[in-house]
Amino acid sequence: LPSLLSPSASCLSIASLTPEKFFLSKRGFPCSPLNHFLKPSPSEPQASGLPEYIKIVEVGPRDGLQNEKVIVPTDTKIELINQLSKTGLPAIEVTSFVSSKWVPQMADHKEVMRGIERHPGVQYPVLTPNLQGFHSAIAAGATEVSVFGAASESFSKMNINCSIEESIERFEEVIKSARNMNIPVRGYVSCALGCPYEGNVVPDKVAEVSKRLYSMGCYEISLGDTIGVGTPGSMKKMLEAVMKEIPLSALAVHCHDTYGQALANILTAIQMGVAVVDSSVAGLGGCPYAKGATGNVATEDVIYMLNGLGINTGVNLCAVMEAGNFICTALNKKTNSKVAQASFRTGTTN
Ligand SMILES: [Zn+2]
Repeated sequence: LPSLLSPSASCLSIASLTPEKFFLSKRGFPCSPLNHFLKPSPSEPQASGLPEYIKIVEVGPRDGLQNEKVIVPTDTKIELINQLSKTGLPAIEVTSFVSSKWVPQMADHKEVMRGIERHPGVQYPVLTPNLQGFHSAIAAGATEVSVFGAASESFSKMNINCSIEESIERFEEVIKSARNMNIPVRGYVSCALGCPYEGNVVPDKVAEVSKRLYSMGCYEISLGDTIGVGTPGSMKKMLEAVMKEIPLSALAVHCHDTYGQALANILTAIQMGVAVVDSSVAGLGGCPYAKGATGNVATEDVIYMLNGLGINTGVNLCAVMEAGNFICTALNKKTNSKVAQASFRTGTTN
């Protein structure tokens, strides 16, 4: 593969995505006219019943990089976020203010937060698991934070070292302080479609935890299929339960692609009216509970699907692909985005 493993020589930049270059492989054989597909087509009739606009929350710099074993240099993280800021993405989760003892990859949270160029109109939330993290985040200039709860008792204990109830008590302090400072708080509910320890998670439990976070003051609840085991069937059941408790406009979905179901699950959610989708550039991230599994759904693939549905995201797909190429080159790894794999393929057409 003339892959993203090598420096950008074999990869096409946006500027070089001209038809001539795109249609011809290195050997001179015509490739499929993929570049046509990368543009949103304004004339595309919008599929009925779907939201007109979907907000993409980019979680690659935090959720994605957090799962990278090798510590990513701070400058690389900053450059990635700066590139993503220019793509039209409305929200980019920057880092996590957790103890570096727990998550060494996020130990440079202050430097990253201070180092990025913030674009007007872009939200830059950071994860704050407790009050201490919240105060450091605010000191570093954070203007939006997220808290991270779980719908599974075992996962909560293993992942954040406390029961669901204890975690909610911690969030209460964070949310209270945030409200006093007019800082919006986003709430994550992980294991919404399955738990690595307990297996199936009851939809009512997801609804219960979501309701707690929402009534405490989270403006949005992101329902996370943390281990990527959900299917359109379980997504539908879970959302039906949660929608009884929380307005649709306050819901987001956060899908991992471990079992290859992420896009189908997202489509199911948006067909039910969910209009906020979390995703990760290049599908960065893995799953610590399933070795070798792919990570978050790729932002590129989500945008491609939404473009095809005629749904506006305001995001430039080619620019996101460039950012994805940057980080994959820096990490010396292959992109997990199918759209990027298809588009950057220049030579091999066997
Ligand atoms: Zn995630």
